[in-house]
Order: sequence, then structure tokens, then C-alpha cells
Amino acid sequence: MISVHTPAAYPHDRVLDACFLGPYGENDALLEKLLVEFLRDHVYWRRNFHPEDPPAIGTGAAQDPEFLAFEARMRRELHQLSAALKRSVPFHSPRYIGHMASDLLLPGLAAHMLALPYNPNNVSEDSAPVTIDMEVQVGLQLARMLGYVHDTARPDCAFGHLTSGGTTANVQALRLALAMKAFPVALRAAGVPDIALPDDDWHAFNLSSAEIITLREAWLAWLAMRAPAERRHWHARVEALRIESLGLAGFLAAHPGLRVPRVLAPITAHYSWSKGVKLLGLGRAQLDLLPTRGMRLDVDALEERLEQCTRAHEPVLMTVAVLGSTEYGTIDPVDGVLAARERSRARGLDFAVHVDAAWGGYLATLFRNEDGSLRPQADVADDFSHFPSPALHAAFGALGGTDSVTVDPHKLGYLPFGSGAFVCRDHRAMELLAERADYVFHGDAATDYATRARRLGQFVVEGSKSGAAAAGVYVAHKVLPLDHRHFGRLSRATVRAAEAFHARALRFTDDVAGHLHARIPFEPDSNLVCLALNPRGNTSPAAANAFMHRLSAALRSDPQRPLQAVEFFGSTTTLRPDLLGAAEATRIFRSLGLEGAADEPLVILRHTLMNPYLVDDENGISYIDRYFDYLVRCTATLLATERAA
Ligand SMILES: *Cc1c(COP(=O)(O)O)cnc(C)c1O
Repeated sequence: MISVHTPAAYPHDRVLDACFLGPYGENDALLEKLLVEFLRDHVYWRRNFHPEDPPAIGTGAAQDPEFLAFEARMRRELHQLSAALKRSVPFHSPRYIGHMASDLLLPGLAAHMLALPYNPNNVSEDSAPVTIDMEVQVGLQLARMLGYVHDTARPDCAFGHLTSGGTTANVQALRLALAMKAFPVALRAAGVPDIALPDDDWHAFNLSSAEIITLREAWLAWLAMRAPAERRHWHARVEALRIESLGLAGFLAAHPGLRVPRVLAPITAHYSWSKGVKLLGLGRAQLDLLPTRGMRLDVDALEERLEQCTRAHEPVLMTVAVLGSTEYGTIDPVDGVLAARERSRARGLDFAVHVDAAWGGYLATLFRNEDGSLRPQADVADDFSHFPSPALHAAFGALGGTDSVTVDPHKLGYLPFGSGAFVCRDHRAMELLAERADYVFHGDAATDYATRARRLGQFVVEGSKSGAAAAGVYVAHKVLPLDHRHFGRLSRATVRAAEAFHARALRFTDDVAGHLHARIPFEPDSNLVCLALNPRGNTSPAAANAFMHRLSAALRSDPQRPLQAVEFFGSTTTLRPDLLGAAEATRIFRSLGLEGAADEPLVILRHTLMNPYLVDDENGISYIDRYFDYLVRCTATLLATERAA
């Protein structure tokens, strides 16, 4: 028994009560009031844009038979939609502990809904004069949370923008890293005089991001000194030699000493990385999945791989550290990855370090003081029984030293889907992604920053994108700033719930010892807890999986039965021995009483503890206890029916 505090030791944070619509729709009046108020406000806005223009829809229109028929059709379809949506997954309920979704933050939801009828398009300032600035502000809010420079007057200020999700943000990270890595090679090939360039392609392909930015600044300064015609000539010459113009094949043909660079990531990496390397044309074979220790990137294995790459002259585009793995919530040693890069750099092999914090990014709020400084480990630990280990604190503390980060507001930001974010440490890097380089020479960081912000569509993967979503994220972060005293209250509730869940899961393993082997395969770092089960007496992985499939069917909705028939929603994931390695796989198989070679995939339960009402002390209910009580009953029933069959 490792639990120190019981859930009851942490009274519910009343501020959270105002944050959500609530499991029972408790704050319905508040949301309704806001929506009506701002819908009316929108209508006044329409009427006050040239009030001299008369209404174009006549007063009689609503009596017209065609109008009435249309309205009837619309109502019917909307009623059908509303009825169909009742079969949705109840993310808002504390009985939902499946995937990475929960209730929505009221300020974000209301801002998103109130902005929708204005329909801003954050592709450029022309179509979103208000919300595009909010998107750039969100980038700065996130940069501050992560420990990047967020003062736009500084030349090295970070830049962040929203994406459709973490997948697109990860693609953006790959795109930017490749643009940066290959740029000095193009400058060398162009033979730009007067600029100190690396001696050969290998060196040019292995500069640090700071060196690349310095080089680009020198190039811009040199260009600015040329007469307009000469400037156009040199600019076109370098552009034509960039990887973005030549394509990967043309670029490599022009530089026989180089190869397609690799992307190193832990085996826990989300499948968006596979999509990304395919999309960029690097090829899936270049995604090198590295072993982990307890589902955290093994820095020694990374170091070894980097040494191999150095010896074989195999370039590395980036190393990905995962901050909150999708399946286990485990957190990679970001500090260790940066230290490994430092050593690799000394050996001449350099690359970008990107943190995929799609899941765990917002947990950084727990580590930030209101003034933006990092909280000491002991201060953070005061609020929890185990979180955060010194290793975890070091990982969060190291974020500022990385090149870019993915964060998903639509996951632990408790905001509607359609909001991921990409944040890069130095805004000047972004210019390498511009579709049309404007080459404005203000020489003033703040002005450069502002012009870039106005041309957002030039730098992002998407074109048109939702300004309403940006407004939602911005307002949520304004109401709950991204530090431990504000947004951190939400993060604290979810980590505490996970600790309570973990402690209860350990008790469960004892409770069911008579009929089940139950194990937590990896110590959780954050707010995901997995549980592996095997009926006692069974030694076959196939039979264990068959049992888990029946159990997981009970833990999800089935269009054939009413939603209310589902007691609790969970999710599953699969342990893959081929990725896990023989030692880890054997350890887990044996702990479950499974025999034979530990080489078959194993289905396990996965729980996401996001809901702030998992422990409802208003009514003295612990949904965590209820879940485990249910699991005891459910597994016993399944086993009884199996024996009867
Ligand atoms: C969810 C997730 C992604 C993908 O994000 P989407 O928003 O689903 O596109 C990428 N990486 C990690 C670690 C994730 O958890």
C-alpha cells in the first residue's frame, strides 16, 4: 500500500464548480444566460452596421408557404440530429474514464459558441482582424507555460499557433525542422559570398537551430545591402536550391554526401509520427523507434543510436521526447534528451529536439508560478502523495531548452475538438516555412513579430481555419492563466484523481486475487493508469485477450443498447512485445500468470482520469470506488458465464 493521502484528504476545489456545465448540467442557467446575451449582442452588431440599410428579409417572408416548409424540414432534421446525438459518448460524466476527453471549460465553450456566428477565418488578418491576434496570444501564453521567451520585443521570442490537433502540430514540427536543417546547405550551394558558411555539406546539415537562425540573419542582412535587382537574383538563387524547391530526391542528388535524415522517437510515440514521416516523404523506415524503460525513453539507447548515426554519417532530423504518452501518460526525460544532444553536437551530429506534449503539456501549469518562474519540486509535491518525481520535475524544467513543442488544448486544456497547438522556441525560424517570403526588413523584432502574425496562413499546414476555436482557447487561458494557482487547479484535480485511482487499483488487485491476476504494468507518471488482467488459472495470452475483449465490450457504448446500460466507460490498449522488448514483456506476462514465449500482443485496460468530479464530496460518492466495485462484479460475472458455457 503506497497511498499516503486518501481522496478525502483533498477537499474538492470549489473554483472548479464554476468551470464546467457540470455532470448534471448544474450550470445550465449560467450557460443559457451567456448564450442568449451574446446572441442578442451579435444581432445588435448586425443591425448597427449601416442601420440605414433596411431589412432585406420582408416581414411577410415567415408566412410564405415555402419559408414554412423549409422551416419545418429544418426543424425535423435538427430534432433528428438532437435525438441521434443522445447516443454520443458521455465525456462529461465521472463515469467516463476512457479516452482523452472530458467536460468542456465554460469560458472556452461560451467564447467558441459566441464567436461562431462572426465566422472569423484565421488564415489572415483580412478575414480575422480580431481572432488572429488571439491565436498569436495563445502561442505566447503557451510559450510562457513551457518556459520559452515570450516577450515579443525580444528577437528570440517564441511563436506558437493553433492547428487542427496534435497530429498537424507534429507535422508542422517535422516540416520546420527539415526547412531549418536544409537551409544552410542551400546557402552553401548558392555560393553566397561574404558569409561564413560551413566547410562541407555534412557540417551545413548539422548546425544547431541557434546557428541556423544566426546564419539566416546574416544572409538577410547581406541581402538588405544589395541593390533591388541583385537582391532579387540572390534571393531567387537560394530559394531554387532549397529542399522545398528541389524536393527530397533533387536535394539529395545535388548533395551526394547527404542522406534522408532520421527521426528518433520512443516506442511510445503516437502514430501521428508515422503519418508525419510518410507525409514529408522521408519514409516510414526513417522513423526509428527507440526502447524505453517503463515506457520512458531510454537515454542510453538514444545515446548509442546517436553514436551509430555519427559513425555511419546518417543525419538525424529530430529526436522526439513524449511528455505524457498517449497510452500510459509516461513522461520522457526531456533533460536527458537535451544532454544527449549536447554530447552528440560535440561529435558533429546535430538535430532538433521536439517535445510531443499533446497530452501532458498543460501539466506544465503545475510547475509555473504566477510570475512565470519554475516552482521547486518540493512545492509542487506538497499537493500530491507521489507526483512529481524529481525526474518528472527535471523533464518539465527542461522544456525551455527544446526547439518546439506540441500541446493539445482539446485534450488537457478541456476545450472543444479542433484545437491543437505548435510552439517553436524562436519565432525567426518560422519564416523558413513562409509560402511567399516577403522579406520585410524592419530590423525590429516586435514589428517582424506582428507582420508574421498577420500572415498566419503562410506558415501553417492548414489554410482557412477556425477563428472561433482560437477565441475559445484564448478566453479560457485569460480566465484561467496557465500557472499553478489558476489553470493548475484543474491539472491538480486530475493528477490527484489519478493518484487516488492508482491507490484504489492496488487494493483492487488484492480484492480480486482469488479469481484474477491484476497488475499495473507501468508506474504512471501523470493521469493515465493502465491495468492488465488475466483470469487466475489461465496461462494462454489468447484466452486472456478474449476475456479482455468481453470485458471491454461492457465498458463502451454499443449502438444496440441504451447508453444507460453502460455503467462505466473505459478504453483499452495493446501491449506489443515486439516493441516492448523481451525482458519487459516477460516480466509482465509472468506477473499475470501467462506462460510460454511472451511474444503475443496483450490487451489491457486504459483509464484517463480527467473528470474533476471523480470524487464527488457533495454527495459522498467516489466514482473511483464504484468503478472498481463494478469491475469486481463484472469480471466475476464474465468468469461465471464462461464456466457455465
Ligand atoms: C493525441 C496525441 C497526438 C495526436 O493529437 P490529435 O489532436 O489527436 O491529432 C499526438 N501525440 C500525442 C502524445 C497524443 O497524445
